[in-house]
Amino acid sequence: MAALGVSKWIIASALAVAAASGAVAAEKNPLLARDGLPDKYIKRIKQYQAALNKLDDSDQSKGIYRNSTLWGANYPKIRVCFLEGSQALREVVANVAKEWQAEDNSVRFDFGKAGKRRTCQPENGKEMQIRVSFSQDGYWSQLGQNSVVFVDQKEPSLNLGGFMNVTPDQLSDYEIGTIRHEFGHALGIEHEHQNPKGGCDNEYNWNLIYSYLEGPPNNWTKETIDWNLRQASGEDLQLTKFDKTSVMLYQFPADFYKKGAKSKCFVPEPNSQISAGDRALIAQMYPANAASRLENFQENKEKFEAIWKKGDEKTTKGVMFDAVKAFFDRPGTKDDPAEED
Ligand SMILES: [Zn+2]
Repeated sequence: MAALGVSKWIIASALAVAAASGAVAAEKNPLLARDGLPDKYIKRIKQYQAALNKLDDSDQSKGIYRNSTLWGANYPKIRVCFLEGSQALREVVANVAKEWQAEDNSVRFDFGKAGKRRTCQPENGKEMQIRVSFSQDGYWSQLGQNSVVFVDQKEPSLNLGGFMNVTPDQLSDYEIGTIRHEFGHALGIEHEHQNPKGGCDNEYNWNLIYSYLEGPPNNWTKETIDWNLRQASGEDLQLTKFDKTSVMLYQFPADFYKKGAKSKCFVPEPNSQISAGDRALIAQMYPANAASRLENFQENKEKFEAIWKKGDEKTTKGVMFDAVKAFFDRPGTKDDPAEED
């Protein structure tokens, strides 16, 4: 898995070496793809997706599956806790993550009070939607509700590896951008380079990408690379047009693209800010208007249920959990007393 705490200069130096030599040597350049979910989680989710695809593998149904990862209308706020880290570090993470909140959306994070940002306590039985760790390898986050459906309350759902190795004021722009990126995933946003409207699949120099990311510091399997880079499918995916400025886009050296720096998917520096396109997407996913959000949620549930009912006891339902219940009948945070200041 990825090395800890990559900083912008590492990426920049990898670029410089690549430019000087005219070729990228995987052993020499510690280039790290922004993030990647550990294999054990990908396996859990893939198994479930394969079972769903047996019921209906049309593009439209894939879109419906994706929509099920959005936090339902019963989550007016999303509780976040930390497995470790100082209050100062937690404060930075909380403040940066909250940049996703806006008047035109209904995303609200609850980190607990300032100075007492919440420590995870799985033993008290209260569901924490996002559990932040700093001690696993690399950067990653589960997609939306997958954080509570496929991951145990004792396990982290979002990781910012190496952030405890520096004082919070030493975090680079790239690392701060990574907080935005991971919380984007935690809200259910996928990678921008996997946007079917972007066509980045045809832009990448795949041989180079595989050989690079299979080596250190990523040490990714082909499965992980495909999971993080290959284009998503699904007619119903909530898409905005391809946004090159998205914080959810990966950045690689020009060699990684067939057209080099001229590729529409290439950006010279990692995007660190939440773009206007990212904001438009999140407002679409989590409308500010509570009635609209509820309506979307119920519609998603009905569509999902219609697919689920195609299974019988012998096939999907016999070997899987009740996915309708797991994604659409969650306890939520509706009746929760206010803890955030
Ligand atoms: Zn990512």
